[in-house]
Amino acid sequence: MGHANRNKLVFTVKDKCRVCYTCVRECPVKTIKIINGQAEVLSERCIGCGNCVNVCSQKAKVYFDSKQLVTHMLTNEKKVIAVLAPSFPADFTDIKDYKVLIGMIKHLGFYKVMDVAFGADLVASKYKEIIEPNNGKSYISSDCPAIVFYIEHFHPELVSNLAPIASPMVAIARVARKKYGNDIKVVFIGPCVAKKAESNEIDEALTFSELKELFVNAGIDDKSVIPSEFDPPLSGKGAIFPVSRGLLQTVNKTDDIIGGEVIVASGKNNFKEAIKEFENNEIANSHLELLCCNGCIMGPGMSEKNKLFFKRSQISKYVNTKLQNLDRIQWEKDLNEFSKINLKQTFSNLDRRLEIPDTIEIENALLKLGKVKPSDHLNCGACGYDTCIEHAIAVIHGSAEDEMCLPYSIEKLHNSINDLNLSNEKLASARQALKQSEKLAHMGQLSAGIAHELNNPLGVITMYSNLVMEELKKDDPLLKDLELIVEQSARCKKIVGGLLNFARKNQVRINEAHILDFAKRSLESVVIPENIKANIVSDLLDPFVMIDTDQMMQVFTNLEKNAIEAMPDGGELIIKISGNENFFEVQFSDTGYGISEENMEKLFTPFFTTKESGKGTGLGLPLVYGIIKMHNGKIDVKSNNDIQKGKTGTTFILTIPRIN
Ligand code: ADP
Ligand code: MG
Repeated sequence: MGHANRNKLVFTVKDKCRVCYTCVRECPVKTIKIINGQAEVLSERCIGCGNCVNVCSQKAKVYFDSKQLVTHMLTNEKKVIAVLAPSFPADFTDIKDYKVLIGMIKHLGFYKVMDVAFGADLVASKYKEIIEPNNGKSYISSDCPAIVFYIEHFHPELVSNLAPIASPMVAIARVARKKYGNDIKVVFIGPCVAKKAESNEIDEALTFSELKELFVNAGIDDKSVIPSEFDPPLSGKGAIFPVSRGLLQTVNKTDDIIGGEVIVASGKNNFKEAIKEFENNEIANSHLELLCCNGCIMGPGMSEKNKLFFKRSQISKYVNTKLQNLDRIQWEKDLNEFSKINLKQTFSNLDRRLEIPDTIEIENALLKLGKVKPSDHLNCGACGYDTCIEHAIAVIHGSAEDEMCLPYSIEKLHNSINDLNLSNEKLASARQALKQSEKLAHMGQLSAGIAHELNNPLGVITMYSNLVMEELKKDDPLLKDLELIVEQSARCKKIVGGLLNFARKNQVRINEAHILDFAKRSLESVVIPENIKANIVSDLLDPFVMIDTDQMMQVFTNLEKNAIEAMPDGGELIIKISGNENFFEVQFSDTGYGISEENMEKLFTPFFTTKESGKGTGLGLPLVYGIIKMHNGKIDVKSNNDIQKGKTGTTFILTIPRIN
């Protein structure tokens, strides 16, 4: 047994798979691997039942397409014989006379069209022989290839129980070769996908769906052909074979008559259950007739997927008419003649069972899925597996993913939502900071441009004013005006200098400083009115820090000046130094009038000042900001300007890493 196409009997059209796990759920041997959220058929263990093809609503599961190969065969081979499965009346329901269908098949170029039901007639008598009572051995029918694959792969110890009899398809192929010689090709036409891989005595197998497509492609319909009878030998009761229990009726026995002797099970759940019980000797001395589908008429190669009972009635109708017109004498003659051919079949142990992991491994896999205690095992089946343990085992085998577990995924989703919310918040504050620094960068460029342009004319004004002043007599009334010009020009120069300071993209020149001494020196360089107390406190263990002392001095003095200017009626300025081995922190706290909430945002914008003109330039804090950034540090402000909310005052906090 085995066929070249076997390797790729059923496969996934990746684009179409929407990962609903229905195919996993419906696969009787769980040979569908979910990888990266896509269902892939592991052909090694696939039994070709085609269940996944039937159940996939997205048409993402397809079976091997034999149309081209058959078309090729028909053009290149002289004698291609079609052997037609007796389930066809269930799918070609609008063709009232089966002879029309045979005519259509011949029109495609087939040399002969033979009846698989005659093969069923032949093997039925062989079955009868082996299931006679007192034979001593129990058999499992071997006419359904998916069942045969299932036993060979998953219950190899039962291979010897498979009825050693050819399937009706193989039987008719042997009849054909006996009649027409060995240089023929045989194409099976039926409802089955597994048949494509059943036997190399068949050259190709078409499904009814494929046959219909071939008709459409060739423009053949039921009106355009000459009706034709099957090529002999003609069948008898074998035609009832495709509905479940069909074989038994063919054998002329039903399970009613012979008691527990033959057990019929069809469909993906029942056949497995029956095999399990058979294996456990719970149904001793019984024979099993098993069909993977709910009768061949529900096979995946049918173009119409439903209507089980309608299909059954179509088969009955067909068989009845057939039997009425049966030439019994000829039939028995044919049976006699062809039962002499070899109808034996052998099967092999093709064990493809996977090792069952040990308990600890399974427990660990379950743990990863969040299943700690028995009540966590919901066994909800959402993943496609019946139980959480089966799912865990599949995960260990590498054919399933954790994400298939619905409760697990929901939990994960919840966590992701939380994470997302968190990072959203972070993003918002980062965006705010970015906006601020972008704004400052633009301002910087603009300021630099303006400052640069103003510098030269200012120099000229100062120089010429001084020149003119020197030439004037001491009592010249213009002298005072010129002095004013020089003074105001100097002020302009100071502003321009501040602008350049803010805008410059200087490197920092880092040197070591004792931060406490440094703070003391900074206080000495600002004028502190008498009504203001200034103090420095420090609990920093290692006071030596790396800073650009020139620039940092500007930071300190600017913050101190601001604090002093915020306390026109006196108060207290405290400089508090703290930190650890990674960073140091300097807080400048005053008891001044504080900063209003609306002004908080504008603090670091160049030219923002609340001080009267002539006093404030609004360039102090932008400068501070720039220098702190160059030290990879940050600057925070806390302030209260509302007396209702307690003492007013402002604290600027510098946090600067020790390693820049
Ligand atoms: P300037 O001091 O020239 O006004 P700054 O950039 O140094 O410019 O400060 C901008 C504004 O920030 C000040 O005008 C003031 O309104 C506010 N400000 C800064 N520091 C303080 C403080 N310690 N207390 C209250 N307001 C402050
Ligand atoms: Mg200032």
